[in-house]
Amino acid sequence: MVIDAFNPEQQRAIEHTFGPLRIVAGAGTGKTTTLQQRTVHLVERGLAKPAEILVLTFTNKAVAELRERIDSAVSSRWPGGERVDIDTYHAFGGRVVSEFGAVLGYPADPVVLTKAESWIILWQGVDEIGFEHIELANLRGGFGTNPLATILELGSRLSDEMLTVDDLQCWLEKADNSTRNNELRDYARALRYYQQRKRELGAIDYGDQIMMACALLDRPDVASSIGSRYRFVMVDEFQDTNFAQSVMVQRLTGGLHDNVCVVGDPNQAIYAFRGAAPDNFDRFASESFPGTRTLPLSDNYRSTQEILDLANSIWEDKSDPYRGNLRSATGASGPRPLLIEAERLDDELAYLARQIKELSADGRDYRQIAVICRKSITKRLVFDTLRRYGIPAEIVGGQSLYETPEVREIISWLRAIGDPGHDTAFAYLVLSERVGMDEQALYDIAQQRKRGESLQTTARRLVAEENAPPELLSLITTLSRLVQRSYAGLEPLMADIVGLRQSASDPIETENIERFVEVVTTFAGSRLGSPDLQDLLAFLELMLIAGPEEEAATGFDPQAVSGVTVITAHAAKGLQWPVVFIPCANANDFYNQGRRRSEVLPWELSHDEPGRPERADFSGDARGQKDYEKAIEAWGKARAKEEEFRTLYVALTRAESLLYISWAKEHPTRSTLSKIHPALADTGERCQQRTAPPAEGNPVPRTLASVAPRLLEQLAPFLTANGQSPPELISTLRQISPEVEISLENLLSAWSLFESARDRLNRQLDDFALVAAAETQPSPSSDGFFVISFTQLESWNRCPHQYLLRYVRGLPGEPKRWATQFGSDLHQALAIEAERRLLGLPTSVDSLRASFAGEDGIGGKRAPGEHDPIEAYLRSPDASAEVLLVEQPFTLRFGDVALSGIIDRVHRLSDGSTEIVDYKSNKRAATYDQIRRGLQLPIYLIACREIFPEVDPPPARAVLFNLRHDLRTEMTWTDQELAGIRNRIVTTAADMCRADPERHNASEANCRWCEYRYNCRFSQYRG
Ligand code: SF4
Repeated sequence: MVIDAFNPEQQRAIEHTFGPLRIVAGAGTGKTTTLQQRTVHLVERGLAKPAEILVLTFTNKAVAELRERIDSAVSSRWPGGERVDIDTYHAFGGRVVSEFGAVLGYPADPVVLTKAESWIILWQGVDEIGFEHIELANLRGGFGTNPLATILELGSRLSDEMLTVDDLQCWLEKADNSTRNNELRDYARALRYYQQRKRELGAIDYGDQIMMACALLDRPDVASSIGSRYRFVMVDEFQDTNFAQSVMVQRLTGGLHDNVCVVGDPNQAIYAFRGAAPDNFDRFASESFPGTRTLPLSDNYRSTQEILDLANSIWEDKSDPYRGNLRSATGASGPRPLLIEAERLDDELAYLARQIKELSADGRDYRQIAVICRKSITKRLVFDTLRRYGIPAEIVGGQSLYETPEVREIISWLRAIGDPGHDTAFAYLVLSERVGMDEQALYDIAQQRKRGESLQTTARRLVAEENAPPELLSLITTLSRLVQRSYAGLEPLMADIVGLRQSASDPIETENIERFVEVVTTFAGSRLGSPDLQDLLAFLELMLIAGPEEEAATGFDPQAVSGVTVITAHAAKGLQWPVVFIPCANANDFYNQGRRRSEVLPWELSHDEPGRPERADFSGDARGQKDYEKAIEAWGKARAKEEEFRTLYVALTRAESLLYISWAKEHPTRSTLSKIHPALADTGERCQQRTAPPAEGNPVPRTLASVAPRLLEQLAPFLTANGQSPPELISTLRQISPEVEISLENLLSAWSLFESARDRLNRQLDDFALVAAAETQPSPSSDGFFVISFTQLESWNRCPHQYLLRYVRGLPGEPKRWATQFGSDLHQALAIEAERRLLGLPTSVDSLRASFAGEDGIGGKRAPGEHDPIEAYLRSPDASAEVLLVEQPFTLRFGDVALSGIIDRVHRLSDGSTEIVDYKSNKRAATYDQIRRGLQLPIYLIACREIFPEVDPPPARAVLFNLRHDLRTEMTWTDQELAGIRNRIVTTAADMCRADPERHNASEANCRWCEYRYNCRFSQYRG
């Protein structure tokens, strides 16, 4: 080997022989080459035979790559075919368990459970586990985070931290009865069941492989056997290891030597959300192997110096000697990165597409370009824009197999066959490319639905009445054929369904379908029973909830991409492109603003991390607990912020010669302006600054109709109260909302219109809304009133398209199956109690408890150990107040709008004052700000004051009482604020009346929880 071929830093690392070594390898510095050459060097110098060297890495792909490179280099130096032992952490752990497991009584040849099988075990045990605190409806599938996913994540986190269920149990015994801890108690119970089932089946899971290997390596006999087998250990990507993996590495030498070399880059540690412990790198030198030699690699062979200068500059903490030191090994130089600022997101994306077109026109191959996004949803936005501009592009990675349109369609066939009442599945088929009907056609079917009929039943009836379009006839005929054929198992049914699709020309689509068929085939031959279609549907339901972690859609081969690569920063790690675009580099989309990641495992249980506050450092009282929680929160945020910076660093360092970073102030679904990513706020001369021009077709300035509703609320009180002049008003608005700044032009151009409305505004704020609404001529309902319910108003505020689909078009959505029983039982019990008091009938605690428990006696038992909601109620002033109104419906009129709702209760307290109370039992209590921003309580106040004069004196305040949390939040509003809210309702109602089918609040967060997320054409839910 010619060591001179390497740079001095690499040479030092390659030539290091005995003793612990830590190679801090910056991005693009030839880490893998160094690791490979060090292996060859050890063999060449006769310090170890190939088989005496162990190399560990993360993925099978990395194993294959290393194997190819090391084998070919070693074979010429060590004839005879002996090979270096290269494996993944998990596979190596599994081998230790297979070889030595008997000494600890582990099964001789354990079955390693797939993730799907772990799910099935838990799913099958739901009834046996005996959950006390989790509402079972959540376990039966449905929206949101399914507790089964959380339980398996907790099991995996326990393994990551070398903890057992007993450790968790011990901690819980001393923990309080908060909702979270009670849920953890259920999770611990479920994990016990899971462990027991694994034992019965002679099975282990991935987490067990490392945990058991660690336990075995803790035994002197096993440790010395392994330690003497491998004289040198080399560990790749050490920054991504979790705590247990780092312990396994430490124990591999059995204390016989310390020839361990770890390679990695702590600045690229971006997998804490998967359990990686970024502090492993430090602990390796400070605790595991004191005396470790640390060698940096800083000569970068990938990027120009201009790109490296920017990447070096982003760190806030400049004291770390291994940060900010990348330099171009080849002296490559190029243009400074471009930092592009846009007013609006569509301006930004259009600019990005135009730049890519220009690069292509200059001869750049699309395959040399990558767009690296922080969030999956940004990938979709970029991809759609590129398509609109006719640019070939491919979205890469991060999508659940089950959420790809091709697999979704197959699942919809399965559901429509196995569950004819599954309206979403049927709607999905109606709207699918194969059937080819549109939203209007679906609406027509829904309109002809008889009471209680499913969509499929309606469609069948229409076909029977010969009243169906040919596409629907064809769909029903196909469905009937599939239902009537008796299949011997799931596989032939799958074959028929897959055969319905026109042969897919897209190879990724074809591969996803093939992989899905494989999933079903594996499921059909499961070691855990012989499942039928209903079992398969239940399993798929779980997989759909589990998300991409369970079964990612077809992976990515950078060589096989035929256009621009659109990828997330996490998936891009380890890759590089000549040209890189980083869009949406704002503080909302590329930086989570230091929000703390929610942790399923209590912090107190995980291994000590530097700087983490310890409970023992705070006083033992309630105050101390609060201070401790605050300190943990702050620490968690700082930790999350560090990881966000590292993620940006990874994205920046993927670029070889051209780097474009862009961001926009305004996002269509956000009411506030974004700021640039904090790491890019002060790039100075390191970047060329650009401004993206408005995208074609963007009206500038926008119409008053789009400006006025958002300004209305802020304007009105000032106009009314102060009669300010335009400049005063503008400066006031600037103070109250930076968002107004961008609309200044619009505001000024609209000023004359506002002026003409000013006098009327002073008298009646509602008129002002009509000025704005008049622009698009709302159409009133037939009786002259536009009647809306409070629930509709809430739906509209969430997303206007959701309102349209649910209330105007009446389309079916994904069934909501989350538990509401607890809340409705409680609500009803309180209403009955209040009714009795109103009627002068006797009441008692027993009768209240009995009606909460319900006939089946379940209600009252739902949350033992939590705040007892009945106790909370009895302790409150409500229990002794004089009831005035109970479950009182109302209809409020605002000009042409009628708004209806139901007030839970109005009562008079002992001091003679009256108040409105709304009872809640949500697991997550609303914050003060959320309640303040909501419309519900102020609307109730307005209604009560205007419609029920018998409530005397009129209520001055409204209360939101979360009984589950014993949290009673009282609020008052000034008359002026209530007038503003009235005004808001009129404006909103005018918009609702128009029900513009193009209007929506699509965003990843909104659509994720929406019942139309699969069928809505604006949906940004990507699984
Ligand atoms: S999926 Fe998104 S855009 Fe569509 S209705 Fe729901 S929230 Fe609105």
